[in-house]
Amino acid sequence: PQAPAPGSVQLVERPSSFLGKTMRAHKYGHGHALVLAGGAGKGGAARLAARAALRVGAGLVTVAASQPAIAEHAAQLTAIMLRALPDGYTLRGMLQDERLNALCLGPGLGAARAQDMVPAALWAKRATVLDADALTAFADDPAPYFAQLHDKVVLTPHLGEFRQLFPDLAARLAAPVSRGPAYSKIEAVRAAAARAGCVVLLKGPDTVIADPSGRAALHSATGANAAPWLATAGSGDVLAGLACGLMARGHSAFDAAANAAWLHAAAARAFGPGLIAEDLPEMLPQVFRELG
Ligand code: AMP
Ligand code: MG
Repeated sequence: PQAPAPGSVQLVERPSSFLGKTMRAHKYGHGHALVLAGGAGKGGAARLAARAALRVGAGLVTVAASQPAIAEHAAQLTAIMLRALPDGYTLRGMLQDERLNALCLGPGLGAARAQDMVPAALWAKRATVLDADALTAFADDPAPYFAQLHDKVVLTPHLGEFRQLFPDLAARLAAPVSRGPAYSKIEAVRAAAARAGCVVLLKGPDTVIADPSGRAALHSATGANAAPWLATAGSGDVLAGLACGLMARGHSAFDAAANAAWLHAAAARAFGPGLIAEDLPEMLPQVFRELG
């Protein structure tokens, strides 16, 4: 879609049928997503992200986790590759492989590993989704973190995570008008994206996406799009994996974020009430069939 005029906001639209693989498709032509996971017992979130990345069409997906967690992942994941990865230094080594073209850090990562791995991941200047621990681990001192972010990064905070990283913007978002200029969610996310120097997607029943130039998009999961059952454990981890998988396939950070928000809500609507997060990737084939 064409960039809208400055100050305007586009609605997140139904993606065109961008997901088809041609007869000549080869898995190596659809990118290789790398999901960085944490320790044993915390891997469910990373697995949700990995399955979402694979279902949305990344050619290959690898989960890198600590050695003790590998057995747990192996018991749960079949089409996804596994790598034991003890520390950030090793991640730098792993990222010498240019075929790993999209990264997802945060879901199930743990704060300590996030501190270690996020700088290594950002150093590689790869398409990268940062969520959960990969956001909040830097909230105490965000300036050096913001300095490392670049235009291929998408941050996917929910409101609580947004508040930790951008407390002044969140305060203005929540403040009554009488306490100062009322910031709409769109203005707050635009300001956050400009400060961070990357795409910011602020989740909620209405999800707002903005980039540092002020381009913004809004996806409402209310009204005809209502999917309140998305408010369930692990749902955000799936969204992060969708955005990562789409970037592996070559979508820009902004388009990946917007298309991920649309597909996430469409999958939830297609499933209906009773949804748990692991149902979301499994609904994608039906959503794609309906996209045509
Ligand atoms: P997280 O909090 O990280 O698990 O992410 C929750 C996901 O569910 C995000 O994609 C939100 O946009 C979505 N979500 C949360 N609450 C609602 C709601 N009431 N209606 C629709 N989507 C929601
Ligand atoms: Mg989350």
